Amino acid sequence: MDAQQIRQFNHNLLKWFYQKGRHLPWRETNNPYYIWISEVMLQQTQVNTVIPYFNQFISRFPTPDVLADAPEQEVLKCWEGLGYYSRARNLQSGVREVVEKYNGQLPDNKEELLSIHGIGPYTAAALLSMAFSQPEPAIDGNLMRVLSRVFLIDDDISKQKTRKKFEQLASELIAETDPSAFNQSLMDLGAMICRPKKTDCEQCPVNEFCLAYDEGAQLEYPVKSGKSKPRTLNYAVLLITDKQGRYLIEQRPEKGLLAGMWQFPMVALDEYEDQHQRASYIQTRYGANVIPVSEPFSYTHRFSHLIWNLSLLEGWQLDQIGLRERQKWVPFTELNNYPFPVAHQKVIEWIKKNRQNHT
Ligand code: SF4
Repeated sequence: MDAQQIRQFNHNLLKWFYQKGRHLPWRETNNPYYIWISEVMLQQTQVNTVIPYFNQFISRFPTPDVLADAPEQEVLKCWEGLGYYSRARNLQSGVREVVEKYNGQLPDNKEELLSIHGIGPYTAAALLSMAFSQPEPAIDGNLMRVLSRVFLIDDDISKQKTRKKFEQLASELIAETDPSAFNQSLMDLGAMICRPKKTDCEQCPVNEFCLAYDEGAQLEYPVKSGKSKPRTLNYAVLLITDKQGRYLIEQRPEKGLLAGMWQFPMVALDEYEDQHQRASYIQTRYGANVIPVSEPFSYTHRFSHLIWNLSLLEGWQLDQIGLRERQKWVPFTELNNYPFPVAHQKVIEWIKKNRQNHT
């Protein structure tokens, strides 16, 4: 993205956040101590569960001094039911450190924050951005999921060096905007719209910038390999022909899975509530109505981190839609001139066998 696009991206994101973002008690303040408590509570626990605990905790321990002096049993009592009780102990010992070393005021620089017991890179970034308005991106699963989809980043997010890459990218984006709102808006976008297994791209404020949306590949990102189980994605592969019997094919993006290869259009089935919604998307995007092929064809293709379940649908283009960038109409005899991944070569084989008139 160039500087102008970054500005527009941030503008869309923040406008959405101010209108639709979640109202949470720790967002009503820039008190670093309160923000710290909320961040600790939010580790491993859902937002809605945290809210009453947070309110109760800050009213019982309104300042670092009060928490530092409180008996541990009382702190644990206030944490009761929230689970992961070591968080409460670590918080109290960190707060005691702040009282002793910093006179009860959390420092406003990364180095000192990271030296405090229980404060890791994420909490430090959240504090710097939300309490001190410093352009420090808070890298978590939400941020990596959203940005990996927007920019088609296929590096394994479980690797440390990938975090660095996101950090660099997010630093470029955050530099142009309100750091606190930037971090919180990506958090909310990841929780409300760009969710792990279901995206609501039509409602997404940054969909015009999102390469995964453009490619219909949202659920393929982020990539998390290693020991995790491969994810299964269900796709319809569309065999769309025009009046001259040519096939519509698309080139995958220059980055990411099967970069630059060609394929028949694919539509992620899990993205749509029902067949109706899916049909309307296909109609709008490809100008075609599609139905399952009369000789049913479904198959599976495995990658190291993904499993594609594919089923073939066919249709004819009814409405003349302009070709998008990276799309082409190609006669069957010329399909061979384009590099297709194995999962789509199977479709070419299927055409050869079942639609002999095109050979
Ligand atoms: S357009 Fe869709 S995939 Fe892209 S960021 Fe928005 S919700 Fe996520």
